[in-house]
Amino acid sequence: MLLENIKGLILKSINYKESSKIIYIYTDAGLRSCLIHGSNKMKNRYLNLSRVLNYIDIHVSGKDLLTFRDGDVLNGFRDLAGDLEKYTYCTHILELIYSFSSHQHDHEKLLNFLLKIFTIIEKEENYIPYLNMIELKLLYLLGVNPLLTQCVECERVDNLFFSITEGGMCCSDHIKNPMNITEKALFYFKFLYYFDLSKDSMLEIDEITLKELRNILDRYYEYHLNIKTKSRELLMGLLGY
Ligand SMILES: [Zn+2]
Repeated sequence: MLLENIKGLILKSINYKESSKIIYIYTDAGLRSCLIHGSNKMKNRYLNLSRVLNYIDIHVSGKDLLTFRDGDVLNGFRDLAGDLEKYTYCTHILELIYSFSSHQHDHEKLLNFLLKIFTIIEKEENYIPYLNMIELKLLYLLGVNPLLTQCVECERVDNLFFSITEGGMCCSDHIKNPMNITEKALFYFKFLYYFDLSKDSMLEIDEITLKELRNILDRYYEYHLNIKTKSRELLMGLLGY
C-alpha cells in the first residue's frame, strides 16, 4: 500500500457516519482532508489526534478519499487549547483560513506564520493583537487589503478619512461613506497591519481600542468577503463584545 505523508494544522473536524471523522488539514500546499475510521470509539493513542488546532504529521492512503493510517501530534498547543477564550479566538482564525483555503496564495508562508503566532500566544496574556494581525495580513493575501497610506482614489496623503466600503483611506474629495474611528484605533490598525514579527515588539492595547478594532475587522470581513464565523458568535459571549 502506498502511503502519503501529510503535515499540517487541523482547521476543521466533522463527524462522519457513526463513529468516524473527517479532518481538514492546512498544509504548506493548501487544504487536504482525510477520513479517520472509528475515531470516536478509539481507545488508543489516536483518540485526541483529530482535535482542531492540532499540528499533525500523519500517513494516509487512498486516492480520492484519503484514509488515516497512523501519525502523531507534533504540537497540540495544549496551554492554548485549555484556555476557552483564547482557543475560541484561534478557532475564529482557523475558520477564516478554512473558508479561503482554495484561494491561491503562499500557503507555506501562511502556515508557518500561524504556527509562529500560536506558539507565541500560548504563553502570552496580551494575545488578541497577534490574532488581529493575522486577520489584517490575511486581507492582504486575499487581495482585499485596506489602502492606508494614501487616498484609495487619488494620491493625496493629507486629511484622510477611513472607510470600510471604499477599502481604506479617502481624501475629502473622494470620501463617500466615512466610518467613525478613533485616532488610537487607526494607529493600532496600521501598526498591526505593518507589524513585522521578526523585528517589532508588540504593544499592549487597551480593551476599548481592542473592541473598536474587533468591530472594524468584523465589518471589513463582512463587507469585502461576506463572512462571519461561528466562533465569532461564541466569542461574543466570552468577551462580551
Ligand atoms: Zn482622493
